[in-house]
Amino acid sequence: MKVLLNETDLHAGVSRLASQIDDHYQGQPLTVVAVMTGSVVLFADLIRMLSLPLRVGVIQASSYRGQAKAGELSVDTQMLLDVRNRDVLLVDDIFDTGRTVAKLMEVIAVQGARSVASAVLLRKCRAHDVALRPDFTAFEIPDEFVVGYGLDYRDQYRNLPFLAVLEPHEIDANTDGVPANGAIYPKP
Ligand code: 5GP
Ligand code: MG
Repeated sequence: MKVLLNETDLHAGVSRLASQIDDHYQGQPLTVVAVMTGSVVLFADLIRMLSLPLRVGVIQASSYRGQAKAGELSVDTQMLLDVRNRDVLLVDDIFDTGRTVAKLMEVIAVQGARSVASAVLLRKCRAHDVALRPDFTAFEIPDEFVVGYGLDYRDQYRNLPFLAVLEPHEIDANTDGVPANGAIYPKP
């Protein structure tokens, strides 16, 4: 596992993101919506750095990439709070193809939000599938599979305090998430 962003880098990036959001909304009340589950760590850090009157909520999106229904996205709005006539900021971990953020912004707009913007920790340097770009981005990263700081590989690694790129030998379709070297929580 190769560390891409350490705890200091991440703290600085999230703090930059918070300043941009504070500057943009100028003290206006904001409804911040976390995309479960990847944005949990970012969300907890980000909302504590914002100096706006906040309401917080969550929305869930799961993609079926790599499986039979590749590209399909299932959205669960059961835990979404009332967004009618609210300014909403959607917070996700990573903008890859861009489909998740684009779809969820549309879902929130349909529920009657006054405005919908998006903030992501990471944007992959690649061609995206959608024309939209996140309104606020902390880091642009190479097009590699990353884990940690909320991001998982087969439900593991979300609790790593840093962001890392998995080595090819750690990505094994037959290990059910346990890396070949057995080191589940390696030190950076
Ligand atoms: P998109 O819809 O933009 O292609 O993908 C967004 C979702 O795919 C993210 O919320 C995340 O769950 C997952 N994803 C995309 N790239 C990565 C990655 O490098 N690592 C991990 N762990 N998840 C990723
Ligand atoms: Mg996600």
